[in-house]
Amino acid sequence: MDQPGRDDLLEWRASKPANFYTAVPGLASALALRMKDNFSPSLRERLSTFGSDVATVIEPAVQILERNREFPKLRPYDEFGQLVEEIEFHPAHDEAARVAWASGVLSTPLNFEGAFEVAGLFFLLSHVGEGGQACPIVCTIGLRRALEHRASPALKERYLDGLTSPDAALALRGSQFLTEVQGGSDVGANVARATPDPMSPGAWRISGEKWFCSVADADLFALTARSESAPSGTKGLACFLVPRTLDGVTPNGFRIRRLKDKLGTRALASAEIDFSDALAWPIGELDQGFNIAVSELLNTSRWLNAVGSTGIMSRTYLEASSFAHFRQAFGAPIESFDAVREQLAFMKIETAAALASTMALTELVAKIDEGTATSEDLNLHRFLVNANKYVTSVAASDVVHRGIEVLGGNGTIEDFSPLPRLYRDAVVFESWEGTHNVLCAQVRRDCVRLGLLDVVTEWVRSELATVSASLAPDANQVRDVLERLEPELAKTVENSVNSDANFRRQLTTLMRIVQATCLLRQGDQPSSTGAERAVGAAFVRLHLVVQDFAEEPTWLPLVDEVLG
Ligand SMILES: Cc1cc2nc3c(=O)[nH]c(=O)nc-3n(C[C@H](O)[C@H](O)[C@H](O)COP(=O)(O)OP(=O)(O)OC[C@H]3O[C@@H](n4cnc5c(N)ncnc54)[C@H](O)[C@@H]3O)c2cc1C
Repeated sequence: MDQPGRDDLLEWRASKPANFYTAVPGLASALALRMKDNFSPSLRERLSTFGSDVATVIEPAVQILERNREFPKLRPYDEFGQLVEEIEFHPAHDEAARVAWASGVLSTPLNFEGAFEVAGLFFLLSHVGEGGQACPIVCTIGLRRALEHRASPALKERYLDGLTSPDAALALRGSQFLTEVQGGSDVGANVARATPDPMSPGAWRISGEKWFCSVADADLFALTARSESAPSGTKGLACFLVPRTLDGVTPNGFRIRRLKDKLGTRALASAEIDFSDALAWPIGELDQGFNIAVSELLNTSRWLNAVGSTGIMSRTYLEASSFAHFRQAFGAPIESFDAVREQLAFMKIETAAALASTMALTELVAKIDEGTATSEDLNLHRFLVNANKYVTSVAASDVVHRGIEVLGGNGTIEDFSPLPRLYRDAVVFESWEGTHNVLCAQVRRDCVRLGLLDVVTEWVRSELATVSASLAPDANQVRDVLERLEPELAKTVENSVNSDANFRRQLTTLMRIVQATCLLRQGDQPSSTGAERAVGAAFVRLHLVVQDFAEEPTWLPLVDEVLG
């Protein structure tokens, strides 16, 4: 029997990329803009190798886990009845880990090139979603940064080699446990206790419950706890390192209550854990605990959460645009319908915007790691690390939702495409490392305390000043919206009564301005393609031009150019 619909689907499957690096030229363009001559042939080669590994090894491994629901299982006791609190994973999980660790994402040095290399590799890995690997990698990178920057020589000596090993079977994995049952946003309400250990000078004992503990299989837990004499609130939190075991078998003073049954990130073990006299060592000074947790752990996670959201969006666009090419309806490929083209163009624009602002953030991380960041760079980083996590995670859920719409009913079928998995992960990414309201409130406080609004607006103006004359109309439009927004935003920042919701709306527009600026810079390179230039222009018209309902939106005539 003639079954053209199925043949089209088979052709679609055969067309899927065997290398996400070569399938997404936007990554190389963004790295070329931000790294300039430092974007070396050897880094391109490493990214290309990993782009192929993600498509051909990690993706099939993750598919096995998802298709057969092979998610982590808690094994509290071993076969002889010893308490071990182990987490069991399917061999496909370990195979994905082997390839992810071998990419060098954990072993690359903390310097200018290293930050971009991590971002590039992690972007490619995120094309499979969380996949049980992303969170462990992020937490391990965060812990490594905390130890390198803040820990005693003894802790560095003991653990840094393991945290930076490229061999997944030998490597030490990190995790970070802040959240307690009374709240993740209100970390200052944490009650887990730390008491000095009378037997080992410099060591502490941790007791209390942690409510959301991802990478419950980690070898090293970073966690916050409060000593008896410490003040209340975030000021009293210290940051500790708790090894999983002290003898290689027995859990170090913890019991896992259960693994959580989650909407997304299901291949990752997230647990509720009770600590009772777990032996721990402080990371840095006790009174610096919250600062260390935020600036080393959370800021690493927020940066990479944005990279991960962008990878999810990029994969969604690849899936939806290729499906639209092969899928026929009413005698034509659905990519020929204006309404579908508009959806695809929207997805492509949002993905490019997320990549552009996240690579601008990565440049700041790179300068910090290189030791060349100015005070303006540090302030801009402080703004972007929070505001960019907020907008990119919102955009990721929106883009995957639209991708599912493009695939129609098939988009909702678990093994038809990765989109259901990516959608579930994207929703989790939204609350990870700080919810939207909490991040916006943090940015607002920073605007008051550190004058960040001026830092951001000056940066936008200086970036726009470098854009060439051919893009002047779009740059002027961005400047114009900034002129109008700035005084209103300044008023909202100063107004202490009931202005959080208003601030969130205005911050969203400020981030649109930031992303438009990054896209215009991206489209203004000598090597930029027509599609890259069209994406910037379309983004400005889509988000920064207010139009009458009767008019056709001004970005629509650019759809064909955007899709290339
Ligand atoms: C799958 C998964 C894994 C996780 N893994 C970890 C982990 O490994 N380690 C870890 O420490 N945490 C982890 N978390 C916890 C995560 O960081 C928290 O869920 C997050 O910080 C939000 O905290 P909460 O869930 O307690 O929400 P709540 O703090 O209860 O917030 C609920 C709602 O209230 C809003 N809200 C709260 N305060 C304000 C305010 N002042 N103004 C306006 N709105 C407000 C929030 O924005 C949110 O919408 C994980 C979460 C998930 C879903």
